[in-house]
Amino acid sequence: MGKIILTGDRPTGKLHVGHYVGSLRRRVELQNSGEYEKIFIMIADAQALTDNADNPEKVRQNVIEVALDYLACGLDPAKSTLLIQSQIPQLCELSFYYMNLVTVSRLQRNPTVKAEIQMRNFEASIPVGFFCYPISQAADITAFKATTVPVGEDQMPMIEQTKEIVHKFNSVYGETLVDPKILLPEQEACLRLPGIDGKAKMSKSLGNCIYLSEEPEDIKKKVMSMYTDPDHIRVQDPGKIEGNTVFTYLDAFSCPEHFERYLPEYANLDELKDHYRRGGLGDVKVKRFLNEVLQETLEPIRNRRKEFQKDIPYVYDVLKEGSRQAREVAEQTLQEVRDAMKINYFDDLDLIREQAEKYQA
Ligand code: ATP
Ligand code: MG
Repeated sequence: MGKIILTGDRPTGKLHVGHYVGSLRRRVELQNSGEYEKIFIMIADAQALTDNADNPEKVRQNVIEVALDYLACGLDPAKSTLLIQSQIPQLCELSFYYMNLVTVSRLQRNPTVKAEIQMRNFEASIPVGFFCYPISQAADITAFKATTVPVGEDQMPMIEQTKEIVHKFNSVYGETLVDPKILLPEQEACLRLPGIDGKAKMSKSLGNCIYLSEEPEDIKKKVMSMYTDPDHIRVQDPGKIEGNTVFTYLDAFSCPEHFERYLPEYANLDELKDHYRRGGLGDVKVKRFLNEVLQETLEPIRNRRKEFQKDIPYVYDVLKEGSRQAREVAEQTLQEVRDAMKINYFDDLDLIREQAEKYQA
């Protein structure tokens, strides 16, 4: 069997540069590599509702925003299936069966969910659906028989949970589900890109983002306000690179050609970092360079987005057709799961005969 990708995003806002380096950029490369038999990209609206139940309009409005960002980045509906999670009811049924294979204490140990619960101030009022979303994610991944899941580092515990469910299911009911592999970004800086405040991961829910669709002036404003080394006060002071968000972004986005174009007095990022460490290099100069790099990266994405914005009905059609195809694939898997679990009463003629004989004897 060929390699299959499943990945996606929650429609809780427009996509940002953290999504881009953490997953989106890689998806487009994988899509164009031709190495994958099928690529499923999911807008996880049902998952977004687990912590936005009282604000369904936010989720509804952002479905199209995420789809536009996908198309703008180069995801191509002819090569990748773009789908909306809630339109695949088979995922709910799979989740329902998988719930029996996971303990409450196992869910409580998930470090990403723990951090998210804290961030959302849920305390004692955690919605059950939110608590269980790692299980529903296992349903998403296995429904499409994904072999490969390209995501950021925060998703590691989810893939671990999925693998445990797959192993448990296969050992109880027989070899049925495909064991997926996580595909993390190669560069350290892209695993979990920090927000412009430097504090936590860039996240739609935290408002510390540079969006893919951001206008040039706003990109510049955000870059110029970014967190650097608080002890690097005067230009001549030696500066720290570790935890310095501007350098983390340069790690994630810059390449030697950017230096040739915008900062030819340095051959590469290592030279720039050395100068910063030694002292004599001001934050403003580094930020101006980062601004050039981001402007160059985001301009074509923003322009393509504007083209797709002109034909919104087309974008909904793409999602409708992708969801239709996805339903077929998920239905096939669901049938296999039901067969394995022996909840296929009406298709199992042996069962009907055995029961009949029992009562005739
Ligand atoms: P929310 O705050 O609603 O959870 P989010 O910004 O965390 O939104 P998600 O939709 O949860 O975004 O994540 C989608 C994908 O993007 C996942 O693969 C995730 O690992 C990746 N991702 C999100 N934020 C970052 C980041 N700052 N750095 C690297 N990857 C990221
Ligand atoms: Mg998230």
